[in-house]
Amino acid sequence: MQTEIAKLREENSELQKSKETEQRFVRHEQPYLTLEGDNQKICYCAVCWGKDEKMIQMDRINWDKGQIKLYCSVCENHCIECEQ
Ligand SMILES: [Zn+2]
Repeated sequence: MQTEIAKLREENSELQKSKETEQRFVRHEQPYLTLEGDNQKICYCAVCWGKDEKMIQMDRINWDKGQIKLYCSVCENHCIECEQ
């Protein structure tokens, strides 16, 4: 019983955490996310987040005409970073 309550509490705080994170997400036309107030503008995979609520940092690949291609090595989602 004790462990079950602890487990539930843990799940609850996890949920709370992902809710807070979600509120900071900046969504883009392309399927990636950045976090509000993140100066580094790290890009996370919107597909992986939508599926498992996992924040997967996307690889940045220099692409044509100075554009940056974003690539998720988990689900192979890829897109071109939008102008911000
Ligand atoms: Zn992904």
